[in-house]
Amino acid sequence: MKATKQLAVPFNKGFLTGAETGYMQQAMANGPMTGDGPYTKRANQLLNQIIGSRHALLTTSCTHALDMTALLLELEPGDEVILPSFTFCSTANAYALRGAVPVFVDCRPDTLNIDERLIEAAITDRTRAIVVVHYAGVAVEMDAIMALARRHDLVVIEDNAHGLGGTYRGRSLGSIGALATQSFHETKNVHCGEGGALILNDDRFYDRAEIIREKGTNRGQFFRGMVDKYRWMDLGSSYLPSDLLAAFLTAQLEAFPEIQRRRQHVWNSYHNRLATWAVEHGVIQPTVPQDRTHPAHLYFLLLPDLESRSAMLSHLLEHGVLGTFHYQPLHLAPAGQKYGRTAGCPVTEDVADRLLRLPLYAGMDDTDIDLVISAVESYRPIHRSRPTVPCAK
Ligand SMILES: *Cc1c(COP(=O)(O)O)cnc(C)c1O
Repeated sequence: MKATKQLAVPFNKGFLTGAETGYMQQAMANGPMTGDGPYTKRANQLLNQIIGSRHALLTTSCTHALDMTALLLELEPGDEVILPSFTFCSTANAYALRGAVPVFVDCRPDTLNIDERLIEAAITDRTRAIVVVHYAGVAVEMDAIMALARRHDLVVIEDNAHGLGGTYRGRSLGSIGALATQSFHETKNVHCGEGGALILNDDRFYDRAEIIREKGTNRGQFFRGMVDKYRWMDLGSSYLPSDLLAAFLTAQLEAFPEIQRRRQHVWNSYHNRLATWAVEHGVIQPTVPQDRTHPAHLYFLLLPDLESRSAMLSHLLEHGVLGTFHYQPLHLAPAGQKYGRTAGCPVTEDVADRLLRLPLYAGMDDTDIDLVISAVESYRPIHRSRPTVPCAK
């Protein structure tokens, strides 16, 4: 413990439903504890129910599910993949690992999602795919992007790490692109410590996805009695999690409505109770367009500038509340500059300096929420002269 005051509200606490231990004990007692056991099948099924997808395959992480999308596309060196700069590095890494070039596109100043109006200008004859991230679980402009992808014959991949349970014009996030990826990292809405899933909404990818996930072998077909021996068929790796982790995740997925109810309560409390304070202090709250619902993955505030963001983070810490910033632009990162390309992302650079995330986890109670809100409200900004519209430059 540092010399600073003890944390009253950490940034995140992995939520436990209470059913995890029993399920893991059952997995240990009954076996097999390897991948694709009974709990993996159950978790895949629950995911398909939540997303409305045809095929969900648990993976060891969202990073690995993204790696699988790059293998499924059979990318070649020099191919290009369009994606936002304002995301986690795994979204770009997957494609750079195959020798493809991540082409970074700027974000919209309202939702902070990839700006669909800038995508067409980034398309070349080497472009193979568009990868979108539903930031904070608020959907990207999917209709415009799907239409663009059809016109240019590109595959759309949803990095849906934030979006499980969210909708866009009545459709579930993760069910719209040909492929989608989920994360079950401890910081996500449902988790198993580390884990993920690949969602296949286009049947043509299924057989190869199963092979890629099983070290490049047709072991899945072998166990279903479709072939008499299993062999090395394709590139692949070990993307299959143990059934022990799937047991943990099953408990979480079964409690999804309860987890979501708790997270929505925190999100709505912040949003409603900080509204007046935000207007008074030139702070911007998240934008959620009418035609979409979000799963309360994270709550952010956009401060007027970098200085006030730093001051606010210190102020929160003084009050025992751990806030954080989010996503340093990938196009400015050392690996982003080495492997990627961009026509510039000024909005991303601006919001990356000003964005502050408040604690949000399913285990927060009303005392925790009150503490965070009063810590925020007692902050006195260092500048009052900045405009109150986002990205005014
Ligand atoms: C968390 C996250 C990932 C990585 O997820 P892991 O399961 O930890 O590999 C990828 N993309 C986005 C947008 C994320 O938020």
